[in-house]
Amino acid sequence: MSGGPVGRFAPSPSGRMHLGNLFSSLLAWLSAKSAGGRIVLRLEDLDTQRCTRAFAAQVEADYRALGLLWNEGGSGGGPNGPYFQSERGERYAAALERLRRMGLVYPCFCTRAQLHAASAPHREDGQTVYSGACRALTAQEAALRARTRSPALRLRVPEKTVLFTDGHLGLYAEDLARECGDFLLRRSDGLWAYQLAVVVDDGAMGVTQVVRGSDLLSSTPRQLYLYELLGLTPPEFYHVPLLLAADGRRLSKRDGDLSLDALLSRMTAEKLVGRLALLAGLNPGGGPRTPESLLPDFDWEKVPRRDITVPERLFS
Ligand code: GLU
Repeated sequence: MSGGPVGRFAPSPSGRMHLGNLFSSLLAWLSAKSAGGRIVLRLEDLDTQRCTRAFAAQVEADYRALGLLWNEGGSGGGPNGPYFQSERGERYAAALERLRRMGLVYPCFCTRAQLHAASAPHREDGQTVYSGACRALTAQEAALRARTRSPALRLRVPEKTVLFTDGHLGLYAEDLARECGDFLLRRSDGLWAYQLAVVVDDGAMGVTQVVRGSDLLSSTPRQLYLYELLGLTPPEFYHVPLLLAADGRRLSKRDGDLSLDALLSRMTAEKLVGRLALLAGLNPGGGPRTPESLLPDFDWEKVPRRDITVPERLFS
């Protein structure tokens, strides 16, 4: 096994991959591989309503088609499996138990409407800050309410500013109590929260380098706090620009004509990788490339830090 970074692909198999997923996956692959590292593939399929095994198989096929090969995980398995989050519930339960023993977990009975109505400020990214309404419930009150409604579980956060240096974007700080509030560990329907699952898994899978879209930058302080509480060593984080449509919207799975199947019906995999690398500042000519051929010139300094509006002609 090499001593380089362990990076990861962590797609949610709820549809075909789109340009934004591919862009961050390409950078994750280049960052780890150019430093002699490896890639783990983990399928983030906690939302069992939306994620399917068929989509997961398609995601693997999509990565392969582009030449983004991984070293461990996915349906091929490996030493730190299972690699499907839907099969890792026992690990999340153990982490929850540890946090519970520290006295940091409490049940929350707030309905969606109550959460929205609470006067807590809204963050710039549209997420609400939990008001703390259920924080002070006594055990008796909680037991009484639990008779009629199954609670979500939240982590009590301290008055604490979490500060970290993003490998690409530099210093980032967040006041946990003021800007985030007590956050979810498990939803009232029993689904594990992303924040808990991602930390438990990156920790257990030995991931040392997380490269992902900058929409997740503001999740990182919560995750760093969980790393600390669970006694895990955090990875390095690199947040990459989001790809935007001409009208300024973030590209998403809804942009069907930029899903991988549509793209590959119009261009070869090399052409697509070359265009993504152009957006990443790594292929000035924009010609066809394989991921492998980009390795010698990979440098985070060349990668833009601001979100990127994708010129339509590049992928049409
Ligand atoms: N599963 C998440 C997504 O597809 C990524 C989570 C992460 O990279 O931490 O958006």
